[in-house]
Parts: sequence; structure tokens; C-alpha cells
Amino acid sequence: MSRSNVKQVWNKLFGRRDNSIPDDNMEISGPTVVKHHVHVTYNLETKSFDGIPEAWKNYIGSAISKDDIESNPQAAIAAAKFWKYSIKRKETDVKLIPTPQVIMEETEAIENVFESGKDSGEVIENTVIQKKSEKDDEESGELNSTVCSSDSVDADTDQVDRAEVENTQSQVQMRKRQQGKMSDTEVMEKFTQLCSPRNPETVYDRDKELGAGASGTVFIAREKTSGRKVAVKDIDLDKQPKKELILTEIQVMKEIQHENLVNFLDVFLLNNHLWVVMELLDGGPLTDVVTETVMKEPQIAAVCHQTLKGINYLHENGVIHRDIKSDNILLGRDGSVKVTDFGFCANITGDEKRHTMVGTPYWMAPEVVNRKHYGKKVDVWSLGIMAIEMIEGEPPYLKETPLRALYLIASNGKPDIPSWNTLSKDFQDFLNLCLEVDMEERASTEELLSHHFLTKAANTTTLKPLIDAAQKILDKHISYDT
Ligand code: ATP
Ligand code: MG
Repeated sequence: MSRSNVKQVWNKLFGRRDNSIPDDNMEISGPTVVKHHVHVTYNLETKSFDGIPEAWKNYIGSAISKDDIESNPQAAIAAAKFWKYSIKRKETDVKLIPTPQVIMEETEAIENVFESGKDSGEVIENTVIQKKSEKDDEESGELNSTVCSSDSVDADTDQVDRAEVENTQSQVQMRKRQQGKMSDTEVMEKFTQLCSPRNPETVYDRDKELGAGASGTVFIAREKTSGRKVAVKDIDLDKQPKKELILTEIQVMKEIQHENLVNFLDVFLLNNHLWVVMELLDGGPLTDVVTETVMKEPQIAAVCHQTLKGINYLHENGVIHRDIKSDNILLGRDGSVKVTDFGFCANITGDEKRHTMVGTPYWMAPEVVNRKHYGKKVDVWSLGIMAIEMIEGEPPYLKETPLRALYLIASNGKPDIPSWNTLSKDFQDFLNLCLEVDMEERASTEELLSHHFLTKAANTTTLKPLIDAAQKILDKHISYDT
């Protein structure tokens, strides 16, 4: 598909100029619209935070020790904010393709997450637009920022206001506009236009369920005419607060097709439920293979190669996945490897540790936790963490609580890999390039695609015995041949 088509859809829906979709060299900038409401410093004498709300202390105190805080207070605060933000998000929120707008809104919400009386999901109404250079200055000294706390400004307000107005170079407060919000009827009209006009129940026979999320379920269906099996994600629109955004995502997903992506096939509307029809991957998620079997390097190289091709294609088309992990790599029983959940999907909570937090932290790049500028290289970091899953069976820090994991990611940089000395030099080099903390130094997907490690990749059919063994032991052997 052509990149310009995606751009067109994107621009039409976001109402932006042509350069608003991330291009190959573009990075989504860090928070350009940030209002600091608290002034926090770390007091080395009392070994505690000054100016920190009680709520922060409670959050930090339960999972991060005093020594940890002392050695890296900035990481402790970044982790606490991210954690609070994540757990406060509603289960029914949809994960969205991270456009600059989505990331900016999320950053604002994270920045203000401890502000009293504000829900973490809210976006502040008045925002401060900063020039990039000013923002960079501030970013480097975030904890010692001189931005005042909301309760300490009162006495000096007039003076501060006057000085700000007189300084023409200073920050300009912008009023936020409602971006041409569509009414519910308009949204539903758009969905009707976008969806296939037929009743999906006349096209497909519904078969067994594969799993359930907060907003619905994924089930197998068989196309009546061809007998072909597909997977259908059923989304209850009544439970979705941001219907227009789902609309956008479907438009984008329709345009994105690649052999290493779980491709979108069709979409229907039935009784206010969307039926999003996708290719069916009958080998289960890569998670089953990594947790149950020991993969050899050539097999790991094969999965890395296929995954990289999928991510690279997404990046070429301006889409950052932002949730690369073994759960989002689906396998075919023939050994095919495909990336899923690159568009919208429900954020669910579940029983297992890896699912207890909305947006699992274990695969997150340090710059995401620290809210630095970030872009498509977050997916490269996550691929490195996924490679660790293939080596060790789980990502680093999985035994830690999510909050502590966030702290460790923000402060440790490249995690320790227990089996490091058993890995080939090529694999070690590949991992070093993925798990480089400095984004500039971290390899791009394009660079990794020509890495020597991938020349060792086995044929993907060698994954078949692993898939079979994992399904057998997990008693998951889903018969797709019904
Ligand atoms: P998340 O909301 O984070 O994506 P999830 O992946 O558990 O969570 P769903 O995406 O709704 O939730 O998927 C539910 C189940 O269906 C999962 O076990 C997933 O592996 C499986 N599944 C999803 N899409 C497909 C597909 N195209 N082919 C086969 N199985 C699929
Ligand atoms: Mg999923």
C-alpha cells in the first residue's frame, strides 16, 4: 500500500497538514505542553522529598526503598507518576495508535496525575506552549525546575503575570478548542459508511471463543461461502468513550497490509457491536512458546527477523506499535510469525502478573517512563526485551511489582541478562543495539534488518515443534479444523 494513502486518511481524520504524520526521521517530541503544578526537590540532608504531595510518598514508599530514591529520585518520581496514571485509566479505554497528539495528551495526564481533584485521564484545559529549546532546557533539570507549585504562587501572582506578559519571548497560554467533535449520530453514520453493509451473521458462522477483553471478545468464524476461517474482534461500541478515534484507527488499519502483520480483512456493524475481521493465527501467541519451551538461537533469530520486518513496515507507514511483547506476536501452526494489536484494542486487566497493569511496563523503553522525546525506537527496545523473553522465558523484573519494574527500567538502563555468556557474539551485539538507552545510538529497524545475527535465522518451519509442544503442555490445542 502506498504511504501517501495512509497520510491522506490520517490527515483527513486528524485535520492536519501533510507533515503531521511521523516521517522516517521524525521523532515524537517530548512534552511541549506541560504545566508543572508542583515543585519537587530531593533534600539530601533529610533524605526525603520537599514539596511532594502525601499521595506520592504513599505510592513510592510501598515499592521503592529509601536507598533507591536516594540513588535516583528522578526515576522514582517518573515511575510513580507513570504507575498512578496507568492504574487510574479505565479498563474500557482503548489503546490508540500513538500520534503526536495522543502522546502529548498522555504526557499531560501523567504530569498532572497527582494533582488533587483531577482524574488522570483528563487533559488540562489551559496549556503552556513552549519553544522546543526552552523545553529542552527545562527537561534536563526537571526536578529542580523553578516552576512554582500551584499553592505557592498566590502572593506573587500579579508580578509573575506582568513579567510574563512583558516578556514577548515567554510562554503563550493557548485556549484549547474542541476539535470539531462529532455528535454520536454523526459518529454512527460514519461507522455505517465505513463498515461493510451486510449483516456479518449472513457472511460468517460464529465459532469458538479465543479470549475476552474488557470491551469484548475474539472468536473464530468461518466464512460461509469459502469455508475460510478468520478471527473476529467484537467491540461493544456502547462501552467505548472515544468512538471517533476507533473510526480513525480502522481507516488506518484498512490501509496497512504486510505478511508479518495480522492483517485486517473487513469490518461490520451489528447491533452497535463492531466485528473487526482479521486473519486467524492458529499457533497461539509467542508467549506460550517462550514460557514452555527452550528456543535455540537460530529460532530466536527467525522470530526477530520476521517481527522486525513487520515493525519496519509499520514505521515506514508512520505507525509506532508501542506494545511489542511476546503476547502481541501471533504464530501460525506453519511457523508464520505476525505482529498484532498495532491499532486499537481493549486494555484489559487479568489475573496474571503480566496483565495486571494497563499497558504492561516490563517491555517499556526508559524514555517512555521518563517521558523524554520518544519515537519509533521504543519498539526496538521492546524487541530487545522480547528477545530476552525468548532466552530466559520472561522479561526482566517480571517478579517485581509493576511500580518497582518501572523504577528499575528508568534507573538501570540495559537490564542484566543471566545467560549472557552463553550467547553468540552476534546475538550479544544485536541485543546491545536494541537495548541501548540512548535513542540516538539505538539501532533503527532498518539497521537491524541487515544485522549479521539475522543471517543465522532458521527457517520459520523449525518453530512448528515448539508451537505444538507448547500447545500440548498448556492443553491449549485449539482445533481450528472444526
Ligand atoms: P489486549 O487488549 O492487550 O490486546 P488480549 O490480546 O488478551 O489483550 P485480545 O486482543 O482481545 O486481548 O485477544 C483475545 C485473545 O484472542 C488472545 O488470546 C489473543 O491471543 C487471541 N487472538 C487475537 N487475535 C487473534 C488472531 N487474529 N488469531 C488468533 N488468535 C487471536
Ligand atoms: Mg491482543
